[in-house]
Amino acid sequence: MLELRNVDTYYGTIQALHDVSLTIGKGEIVTLIGANGAGKSTTLMTICGINRPRHGEILLEGKPIHRLTSDAVVRHGIIQVPEGRLIFPDMTVQENLDLGAFLRKDAVGIQTDLDYVFSLFPILAERRRQLGGTLSGGEQQMLAISRALMARPRILLLDEPSLGLAPIIISQIFSIIRKVNEDGVTVFLVEQNANQALRIADRGYVMENGRVVMADTAQKLLESQQVRKAYLGM
Ligand code: ATP
Repeated sequence: MLELRNVDTYYGTIQALHDVSLTIGKGEIVTLIGANGAGKSTTLMTICGINRPRHGEILLEGKPIHRLTSDAVVRHGIIQVPEGRLIFPDMTVQENLDLGAFLRKDAVGIQTDLDYVFSLFPILAERRRQLGGTLSGGEQQMLAISRALMARPRILLLDEPSLGLAPIIISQIFSIIRKVNEDGVTVFLVEQNANQALRIADRGYVMENGRVVMADTAQKLLESQQVRKAYLGM
């Protein structure tokens, strides 16, 4: 569904991605794991059209999207949940969700999706009139994911959804990600929490210093000595 082919991305003169190639199949959960500064967020920013690749191509169903503006990428159904959640703290939960549906005109579909996110995260329904900034970290992550779902993504890009959250909340968030995937959304999950990410993913890529150094099924990566030593602390 989505393919990066030999992508190089730079910040000025600094090259952050080197010859990155990866694929995300329709209906899959694919994860990209790696240490701090490996280039995971840059990969997402490049897919979203925020950073342009200097070389290489990004194809959505075979059509190039790497020259599109970031709002055009959103219109193609590629929606990112950014790292650090970035909800609007001075707006209510409901207003944050309304913003997710900003580009849509289908009132009935929007209501259906609102019911859907409230069924995934009932706590958000309870807090819909509360300001985003008053939510706990876990609830803010739920809101950030829900806001992205309100855009009705075809591909959901998640940047470290587990960051700074307690283990019990992480498990809850990851099981919802799996549920959203089962309900038809393709998922690309960027994570430092390799263990949790590989447990819900179909396939994974390992990134080091801006390069993809391993690619395999999630199960094989979980079993790999190299991954266990470097990323699972075993
Ligand atoms: P993290 O888990 O910390 O988010 P990451 O794997 O997502 O790490 P990136 O944020 O993509 O890594 O960073 C990749 C490289 O690009 C790093 O060397 C980083 O210092 C550099 N970098 C990231 N953003 C910028 C920027 N705005 N300007 C210059 N260099 C940057």
